[in-house]
Amino acid sequence: MDHFGPASARPGSPPRLLQVVARHRWAMGVWLGGVACLVVMLLPVGSTERVMLIHATSFVAVVVFLIAILRMPRAARVVWWWLWAFLVLTVAGDAVYDMYLYYFDKEPFPSPADVLYLASYGALVSALVVLVRRRQPGHNRETWVDTAVMTVAAGCVVATVVIMPMLTDSAAPLVTTLIALAYPLLDVIALSVLIRMLVGVDKMNRTLGLLTVSLACMLTADLVFQSLAAQGVVADAPAWVDVLFLASSLLLTAAATSRGARTITRPSPTSHRTKARLVGLAVAALTAPTLLAFSVWSEVGSGARLLAVASIAVILLILWGALMLISMVEEQAALLAELARKDSLTGLPNRRTWDFELDRMAVRTADRDVPLTVAMLDLDHFKAYNDRHGHPAGDTLLSDCARAWRSCLDPHLVLARYGGEEFAALLPDLTLEGASSVLNQLRLATPGEQTVSIGCAQRVPGEPIEQTLHRADLALYQAKASGRDIVVGYEWDEVEVRG
Ligand code: GH3
Ligand code: MG
Ligand code: MG
Repeated sequence: MDHFGPASARPGSPPRLLQVVARHRWAMGVWLGGVACLVVMLLPVGSTERVMLIHATSFVAVVVFLIAILRMPRAARVVWWWLWAFLVLTVAGDAVYDMYLYYFDKEPFPSPADVLYLASYGALVSALVVLVRRRQPGHNRETWVDTAVMTVAAGCVVATVVIMPMLTDSAAPLVTTLIALAYPLLDVIALSVLIRMLVGVDKMNRTLGLLTVSLACMLTADLVFQSLAAQGVVADAPAWVDVLFLASSLLLTAAATSRGARTITRPSPTSHRTKARLVGLAVAALTAPTLLAFSVWSEVGSGARLLAVASIAVILLILWGALMLISMVEEQAALLAELARKDSLTGLPNRRTWDFELDRMAVRTADRDVPLTVAMLDLDHFKAYNDRHGHPAGDTLLSDCARAWRSCLDPHLVLARYGGEEFAALLPDLTLEGASSVLNQLRLATPGEQTVSIGCAQRVPGEPIEQTLHRADLALYQAKASGRDIVVGYEWDEVEVRG
């Protein structure tokens, strides 16, 4: 009786539902985290259910995060250990804070929770510093300058919204003020390392995205909480502040368990998204004058309003100019790169590009385990043509030949001007025989009375590509020696004989 179970179920294999759950466990975990955040949002602030749900969810996140680290290769772990330490210290801090608030019924600030919270910044900054160093080893001055500009702007906001109101509370004891001040200052430090990482990111992937959103949630919630604390209204903190802290922990866990977590420290090229960076710098440059404009807006008649608006306008105009300059430089760079790649007479790739393409194609074809044939083409008695018709006519013939041959070849095949009246072709995926027939078509397409001699060689697996080129050159000599206007291939057996 074999018709009870699904046809594909093999004895001993887990049930289908478990297989589906196992395959989609990451997405399901993220959904569950989202549901937990939603429930926390809906439950009344201060209720036992809400407090217990926050702590239970955070605890699960800590355990899941730990399991994810233990399953990673050793080399990938260091950043995640620091981030895990950050999570553990934050979750432990929350537990102590709520114990003071609900269990002992005591003022939770300052309390031992602050020791845990402040220590958590050390772990976070260490994680981000290691991440930046691993991803972009070496010095990178311009990214640090951009980071400094954006950090100063963020610092301005934090100073205005959080630090200044704290300093005006002269009744608070010095230790309390110092601890309270440490939070926004550490937030700005953590933010600066995060900005440094983002400025250098060339391609955002899921793990980096989750990490960034997680830290953005944490920093936003922290700054809102502190600005409320500075105004003495912590008790009235909106429900979403707690949810943002919880979401931050869950998103961090999602990052650690995502597929890209193992490769996050792999070196990656520095970003060249110049315009995106300019937008970031524009926002940073406008931050301080905008804050200034807000603070002086009521001072009618002092001229302060006019100065604030004028400084915003000047910054925008300077940025507009910089954007135009960058566009011009980018266009010129693209033009120069094109000129550096091409031969000016024929428009074909030049010798430098040929050298680059030769190496690239050698690696590619070897990786794909397909043949590669290299050919050298040399116009016959071209000196005599020049002597008879003049150098300009010789130039015209060179470009006519290039055009005629190029039109015979598939676009993916490389035809380059090797130098003088010599050309070179790269024929991937073609054996000596197949390439010879293509090259014969080229020979026959040579314009007018002009003839061309062609030598070609197929790369022997493992042979240095320069050696293949040399053999194609030897075949060209043979073509010249045997009367010209012919394609000669350097045969495989000859390779073995001549080594
Ligand atoms: P062979 O059949 O043995 O190749 O004879 P050849 O005359 O083609 O070879 P040789 O090497 O003796 O002469 C090459 C000539 O190509 C000499 C040089 O003036 C000419 N040449 C090289 N570059 C250019 C160029 O850019 N324009 C023109 N018009 N002639 C060029
Ligand atoms: Mg020649
Ligand atoms: Mg020649």
